[in-house]
Amino acid sequence: MAYFKKKHLSGVHVVHHKETAELESVVMPTPARVVLPLIQHMGSPCDALVKKGDTVKVGQRIADTDKFLSVPIHASVSGTVSGVEDFVASNGTKTKAIVIDADGEQTVDESIKPPVIGSREDFLHAVRASGLTGLGGAGFPTFIKLSPKNPDEVDTLVINSAECEPYITSDYRECMENSGDVLDGIRAVQKYLGIHKVIIAIENNKPKAIELFKKQTNDDSEITVHTLSSKYPQGAEKVIIYETTGRVVPEGKLPADVGVIVMNVSTISFIGKYLKTGMPLITKKITVAGSAIKDPKNIIAAIGTPIKDLVEFCGGYNGECAKILMGGPMMGIAVTDDDQPLIKNNNAILALDKAHTDPPKTTACIRCGRCVRACPFSLMPAAIERAFDMQDVESLQKLKVMNCMECGCCSFSCPAKRDLVGVNRLSKKMVRAAKR
Ligand code: SF4
Ligand code: SF4
Repeated sequence: MAYFKKKHLSGVHVVHHKETAELESVVMPTPARVVLPLIQHMGSPCDALVKKGDTVKVGQRIADTDKFLSVPIHASVSGTVSGVEDFVASNGTKTKAIVIDADGEQTVDESIKPPVIGSREDFLHAVRASGLTGLGGAGFPTFIKLSPKNPDEVDTLVINSAECEPYITSDYRECMENSGDVLDGIRAVQKYLGIHKVIIAIENNKPKAIELFKKQTNDDSEITVHTLSSKYPQGAEKVIIYETTGRVVPEGKLPADVGVIVMNVSTISFIGKYLKTGMPLITKKITVAGSAIKDPKNIIAAIGTPIKDLVEFCGGYNGECAKILMGGPMMGIAVTDDDQPLIKNNNAILALDKAHTDPPKTTACIRCGRCVRACPFSLMPAAIERAFDMQDVESLQKLKVMNCMECGCCSFSCPAKRDLVGVNRLSKKMVRAAKR
């Protein structure tokens, strides 16, 4: 990759649509029923610890597993388990889901109390017990991210507050509403992981958050606030590491291999809250927006709340809804129906009308090179597309398709409206299959 030769990485300028940015988050009433899939993180699914007819309380651990790469799941409402049912996620993953009929009492489980922490091991154990996964989208179990194989070589913690996807403002609201929790979480990670240098990275379209954190960290020489230009995809892990530290994560390596841990701002804020309360991850702050939503908002809702309840809380659909996305318009996943529940790593629900979703007319590639110029990693999407059409796995590998983070900048900038990111996804599958 030649991207390390650039001062700043490429990317694209998208229309921000941050209309909900200055709206204070609203707590949604308890839904009548929640659906909690047994896999809400990257890794192994959990096993249900409850069965039909059991009564559960808020914060009670209801699913877990000893398998690697997993975190427990907790009841987000008090009530009765109506079943442990087959469930198909929007990405096609088949699993089971615990369905709870809420009793409306929100009785808190007696086990909930702040964790007692005296060591790094206690801290990591507590982070796992909280059920925390990265809240910014990927859903990677946080305790694993905080347990690199080379802890003594990690010297920098980057707090990702870029939030570069259009529409989404839930991280920004977390900065403005709970900056104290963010700083408490940062200081806990600093203390237990022995990391001194912290960089809070925020795009320059959020001047109030930049000012707030600068003011609050004024007397702390270990924490700096780094202003990023507002360009997509500044929040991508490898991009934000390069922009804030100048370090390049090599192909197949992790941020910790270059001495960095990156944490989403809402994730670190949750750690700050959890250490004070002991309440595991049972709610999410989420942006509900898009052209088909009557009254867009940032909502704090119980995990497992069906999308249709979130939409109803926002006044319902504004005419015909042609598409629902979990996440932003660049990298979000289309959901099959609005019965799908809110899950841990979901930071936005976008509902779009037909005018915003009609597929563009695709024409032939005119070899303009805009896709190459837009790619933060200087990949060659048009050449990848040709190699894919030829089923040429060797060329796909030479073209470094596995480095593609599927950000969509190439498709976005293509005047011929070619689905380059879609082709890249399929190309990566082809390479993986060939390797197997
Ligand atoms: S989707 Fe992949 S190829 Fe396209 S711009 Fe992003 S990283 Fe580059
Ligand atoms: S941007 Fe589109 S038209 Fe231009 S070279 Fe890339 S694929 Fe071809």
